[in-house]
Amino acid sequence: MAAVDLHAHTLASDGSDRPEELVAAAAAAGVGTLAVTDHDTVAAVAEARAAGERLGVEVLAGCEVTATVGGRVVHVLLYGEGLLEPDLADAVEVARRGRDERNLAIGERLEQLTGVGHADAVELACGSVLSRAHFARALVARGAVADVAEAFDRYLSSGRPAYVPAPSVSVIDAVALAAKAGGVAVLAHPGRLAPAERDRVVAEALEAGVDGVEVWHSQHDQELRRSLAALAERRGLLATGGSDYHGRHKPDVRVGSGTGGNVDVPGERLAALRHRLAVGGPG
Ligand code: AMP
Ligand code: MN
Ligand code: MN
Ligand code: MN
Repeated sequence: MAAVDLHAHTLASDGSDRPEELVAAAAAAGVGTLAVTDHDTVAAVAEARAAGERLGVEVLAGCEVTATVGGRVVHVLLYGEGLLEPDLADAVEVARRGRDERNLAIGERLEQLTGVGHADAVELACGSVLSRAHFARALVARGAVADVAEAFDRYLSSGRPAYVPAPSVSVIDAVALAAKAGGVAVLAHPGRLAPAERDRVVAEALEAGVDGVEVWHSQHDQELRRSLAALAERRGLLATGGSDYHGRHKPDVRVGSGTGGNVDVPGERLAALRHRLAVGGPG
């Protein structure tokens, strides 16, 4: 059976692949169903879908938004064809526009600290949505740090001197946006939350109305997958999974698999998602 990957990025946000390159990589990896989930934009979905039609890959519309709940920043995956409607696509991009201001602030701080600033990151980003990842790569390219990890450790991580919080919506707003699109909102990679507060933040996200949790994320270990799958089962939630592919910017993650192997979204879980999205499966 074809593999499934419900979380992947392109050049429209902070991935390195053009939409058709992502889809070609998915096809080569045996992925039959792929969701394109760029940060704060659905701009790459149409192009990816056109490539998918040529290459036999079903492309689902999605995006990943930054949201706050319980005083914490989380990522929420939105899935749904309605996200492509102009007014909803525009609502998704509101967060993206808020990023411009943040990026100028990061650039200003970084320039004072290192001489590498906003313009350097823009040049490197070649038109994609600017993120801290681009500032990190600009620092590497200009020799200010040895690698991306050092760029985050010294300057860009939360609590470091060039850090500025990302603009975000509330999880309630993210859920409402998904509902408006006739789609669903799924709490992304709960494994990234600090273990001490994970249960609390997940509970608050559920309270805010998320429809599901991302279980088979490439960075989740088997134990976390088991406990999240059990939670989804108990609470009647959707359970999704994906690689969180970013192309060459996360070289250890491939489409359809992560460091822990295939992301393995079970067939019945995909069927439940399809049912909620009212999209028929192939065959
Ligand atoms: P932003 O959305 O602008 O906050 O930037 C997030 C981007 O930075 C994503 O691509 C992350 O994968 C990347 N990122 C965040 N923290 C780190 C880190 N410590 N090391 C490498 N990349 C990171
Ligand atoms: Mn990213
Ligand atoms: Mn994320
Ligand atoms: Mn992601």
